[in-house]
Amino acid sequence: MATSKRDFYEVLGVGKNASDEELKKAYRKLAMKHHPDRNPDNPGAEAKFKEAKEAYEMLSDPQKRAAYDQYGHAGVDPNMGGGGFAGGGFADAFGDIFGDIFGQGGGRGAGPQVYKGADLRYNMDITLEQAAEGYSTQIRVPSWSNCKHCSGSGAEPGSKVETCPTCNGQGQVRVAQGFFSMQQTCPKCRGTGQYIPKPCKQCHGSGKLKEQKTLEIKIPAGIDDGMRVRSVGNGEPGVNGGPSGDLYVEVRVKPHPVFERDGTDLHVQMPISFATATIGGEIEVPTLTGRVEFPIPEGTQTGKTFRLRNKGIKGLRSAVVGDLFVHVMVETPVKLSDEQKDLLKQFDESLKSGGAKHNPHQKGWFDSVKSFFS
Ligand SMILES: [Zn+2]
Ligand SMILES: [Zn+2]
Repeated sequence: MATSKRDFYEVLGVGKNASDEELKKAYRKLAMKHHPDRNPDNPGAEAKFKEAKEAYEMLSDPQKRAAYDQYGHAGVDPNMGGGGFAGGGFADAFGDIFGDIFGQGGGRGAGPQVYKGADLRYNMDITLEQAAEGYSTQIRVPSWSNCKHCSGSGAEPGSKVETCPTCNGQGQVRVAQGFFSMQQTCPKCRGTGQYIPKPCKQCHGSGKLKEQKTLEIKIPAGIDDGMRVRSVGNGEPGVNGGPSGDLYVEVRVKPHPVFERDGTDLHVQMPISFATATIGGEIEVPTLTGRVEFPIPEGTQTGKTFRLRNKGIKGLRSAVVGDLFVHVMVETPVKLSDEQKDLLKQFDESLKSGGAKHNPHQKGWFDSVKSFFS
């Protein structure tokens, strides 16, 4: 079975860059179309329904999606033993949307629905140095506490929480849609099974107040632009006792004035004087951890690249440190005095008297022009 699996994106009919919203929409459409309740005479519908359900479940989880994008089915199939993904159960990832449509997402049977809280995203800008070394910081994020005014009940003191009259406390209602009926989250109590005649003035009946809290965030060394760090349980609170969502810290590594990053490697453009390039000499090369001396050999041409091993960045999931590539750029001197110009002319004359041996590129260039015209 596992080997002949269809591509998840293909199953949902969306592109690789589909947004969460597009995934949800595509899945909703397929789920409505192939749901077994709607297709009692078509045994193939259930397989199609399950296929769409699995694809959506995988792609709607950012971690699983990333693993799938990278490793394909092997990255997310528990039978392949490939990935090590934490994450809620099957119903969990799913309850949210499935519950929406059919009213029986997370659990079986009657009773108020349990929903996982929404995930939150936090954008964090860090420097290349912080990305290379790892970075710990504190951030302020929303949190929710029980409302003191109503002790978390949601009812104004002196009033009572009643059983929802629409669903009799079940949290779900049966509604007829066309020729079949299905369960839906109760529109009056939104699945809680409760009705609050006089909502608390402080929390408007939710029983919770939004506050701010300080969270310690550790960005691991080697993280790259666009990667995310998950802080479990620090998202929005769940509904009816469901688990809280997670907080995703999305890291953006700011461009560096000196270095350009390519995975674990770094690149630097290094201007050197025309004299150093000609006769060689020590130069100071910047690295992320300070300057190092580097010998430039005699006769170095512009565009020459030197490699400094292990002066790059440590890999996120390995101990291997990348390299620093130094791209040499020979600088033409500018704003010369008359005296300097004279010296340079004399110097140039002495080069010419030495023939072509001093100008390896020029010689090669003249040779190819000659053969082109002959
Ligand atoms: Zn309250
Ligand atoms: Zn209700």
